[in-house]
Amino acid sequence: MSAHIGVTGLAVMGANLARNFARNGYTVALHNRSVAKTDALLQAHGDEGDFIRTESLQELVDNLQKPRRVLIMVKAGKPVDSVIEQLVPLLEEGDIVIDAGNSHYEDTRRREASLAEKGLHFVGIGVSGGEEGALLGPSIMPGGSRQSYDSLGPMLEKISAKYDGEPCCRWIGTDGAGHFVKMVHNGIEYADMQVIGEAYDLLRTGAGLEPQQQAEIFTAWNKTELSSFLIEITAEVLAHTDAKTGKPFVDVVVDSAGQKGTGRWTVVSALELGSPVSGIAESVFARGLSSQRDQRAIAQDVLTGHEEDIEVPQSFVEDVRQALFASKLVSYAQGIDMLGSAAGEYGWELKLDEIASLWRAGCIIRAELLDDIMKAYAGDSKPENLLFAPAFAEAIGAAVPAWRRVVATAVQLGIPVPVFSSSLAYYDGLRRKRLPAALTQGLRDLFGAHTYGRTDAEGTFHTLWSGDKSEVSAVDTH
Ligand code: NAP
Repeated sequence: MSAHIGVTGLAVMGANLARNFARNGYTVALHNRSVAKTDALLQAHGDEGDFIRTESLQELVDNLQKPRRVLIMVKAGKPVDSVIEQLVPLLEEGDIVIDAGNSHYEDTRRREASLAEKGLHFVGIGVSGGEEGALLGPSIMPGGSRQSYDSLGPMLEKISAKYDGEPCCRWIGTDGAGHFVKMVHNGIEYADMQVIGEAYDLLRTGAGLEPQQQAEIFTAWNKTELSSFLIEITAEVLAHTDAKTGKPFVDVVVDSAGQKGTGRWTVVSALELGSPVSGIAESVFARGLSSQRDQRAIAQDVLTGHEEDIEVPQSFVEDVRQALFASKLVSYAQGIDMLGSAAGEYGWELKLDEIASLWRAGCIIRAELLDDIMKAYAGDSKPENLLFAPAFAEAIGAAVPAWRRVVATAVQLGIPVPVFSSSLAYYDGLRRKRLPAALTQGLRDLFGAHTYGRTDAEGTFHTLWSGDKSEVSAVDTH
């Protein structure tokens, strides 16, 4: 018996993916650096399907059907390079090495180019859905060569989540495209969680609603256009009572969140691409601020807020719901816009409708909204920005009055709503006929002769600011 696929790296994610393959009828060869994890998996779940136990990478490779498919699920970073280095001499032309961990897409591009020189396929795949998704059906975003997908795709589609029977797995594009799309997915996930947090804070501080009451509100919201996995689990977390103290669980959790992974990568990459993902960036920065616990403690004593003593009306809860929806929509629009910029930069033909379709089930940002997003990009006339699709332009337009009221109220009450407010600023910035960037250009030309364009003529110009202030034609050398 030889295996359809080999999995090396059997911590929780690798073990669950291996079990998922086996449950779907594939024979899976198992390997882990320390054999103990292989044996633990076989002992607990060995009867779930056909597994082959191996103790070395050589043995793993020897037990695979050709072309060999080896899926690496080890700690991201150097360990992936180390495993690839050991694997490559054992493989033959046409074999496929798969990295399903959370690798940076630039690493994936580098590894793909290096293995391609040796006649090997390297496929970086983004996997979303956490431990449970890996076991029961994740959303899968594979990159790598189209040819490798012909051999690998059917297996990945079989183990993926399904939405209306359709697999949440499609070939995304060459080299690092899969990991890039997964990274942006995670960036959107950051923003999605932050807007939920801002809504919670507004309802708690502004409307005085306790977590238990809010759990009911979020449950009700989950039956509206906000319907999504994250809204559903928000209700669950808010309803939870801490067994030790009897307090709401959310009140006993330390209010500082880390931001080391894919959210940060998304923002760094967006800055490089010049892509204005302000909602995602603000959500990463909000985590940064939350982690500055020492400064926050000092601020309690030294900084004053001058909050206004205003009562919020009953309609506030519905206003917050609409503001949450509008802000969430902006985050998705920004993330998807960033995918478009990356496609241009890296030569990927990203199909935005297919990408949205993969996110409809299995992954953390799964939401009803994604079906509509998919439809917005499915036709021939693809919107330049998600917000321009007629259905979304109308939906966000209808939410604007509530959105403005909520941001204004938050400012008066001193409640920080970085994503609600920056998303509104993005929306207004996009709509604005003239932006103050014209003044910025004037300033840059004065202090650094950076030149500017004119609204009424082609070309590049410079004003002789320290001379007679006449204008000359110029070439920007900066
Ligand atoms: P992990 O804790 O990130 O890594 C542990 C695994 O890596 C173990 O099997 C370990 O082997 C192996 N390993 C570490 N260094 C190694 C090296 N130098 N050589 C060979 N093997 C090495 O595992 P995980 O939590 O299952 O995550 C795996 C990947 O999935 C990561 O990239 C992670 O970011 C990603 N992930 C994704 C999600 C998701 O939702 N998609 C969730 C969690 C994690 P030993 O047992 O011998 O130490």
